[in-house]
Amino acid sequence: MIDFNDLDTDPNASAPLASTSPEAIRAAAHLANGGDAVFPCPKCGGTGMWRGIRTCFTCRGKRTVSKGVAAAAKGRVTKAVNLAAAKAEFEGSNPALMGDLRAIASWHTFARELLGKFDQYGSLTTGQVVAALNSLAKVKEKQAERAAVRNAENAGKSGEVGIDRITALFATATAAGLKKPVFRTERLIIKPAKSHPGTLYVTDKALAGEYVGKIVAGKFEARREAKPDTLALLCAIAADPMKAATEYGRSTGECGCCGRELTDPASVKAGIGPICATKWGI
Ligand SMILES: [Zn+2]
Ligand SMILES: [Zn+2]
Repeated sequence: MIDFNDLDTDPNASAPLASTSPEAIRAAAHLANGGDAVFPCPKCGGTGMWRGIRTCFTCRGKRTVSKGVAAAAKGRVTKAVNLAAAKAEFEGSNPALMGDLRAIASWHTFARELLGKFDQYGSLTTGQVVAALNSLAKVKEKQAERAAVRNAENAGKSGEVGIDRITALFATATAAGLKKPVFRTERLIIKPAKSHPGTLYVTDKALAGEYVGKIVAGKFEARREAKPDTLALLCAIAADPMKAATEYGRSTGECGCCGRELTDPASVKAGIGPICATKWGI
């Protein structure tokens, strides 16, 4: 037979209820926070002054704070230290990824967002890493496409087709004693590179005298800036340097080799001075 009186002997049921008055709860919380115990203010180092110039806002100049305030300050420091450690670890195990993201962050919104998350959380999630790698792969693919187009364009503007004759022309002029031989034509000006013997630099008057490429071992290597007809012009000059010099001399009234004014009627007609014609072998 059940003795219903046993129910009243349940120790839990018979224990007196803890007071739930607001005052009691506040008092309990106060005790949990350290009660009236105080600690030197972590912000001002217990001086009550912030950097010695104004009253410390954390302790309001009282030099001490409760356990709760001290613990929160310590917690913030710990959190910052942990974040820095997490960032260093993630950075250390993903150096290429982080470097690639930073390299494109100035113009790539998603990369910038990911770096923001990294700064906030100290690492990227697996999903974010996968998304980052996909984005970077796409960027690299586009860059490779653009480079291929550019190389194809430049290759079309570069080539040999008899340009070695220009090299030979300069060899003749140098052998004849010219220190700084320059070959001027109506558009292109060709001269040896000072610090690279055997290399000729080509500039284009149609591009305000801009450097458009070089001739190395009889081959013209065009820069991106070079106009599409540059190689054809060089080939024409190589095929008939006398014609190029003559055209220049007639249109400018000066010798295309030395830049001096042509005064002798025969020279004006020829478009090149007799001495230069001899020295350049044309
Ligand atoms: Zn303080
Ligand atoms: Zn001359």
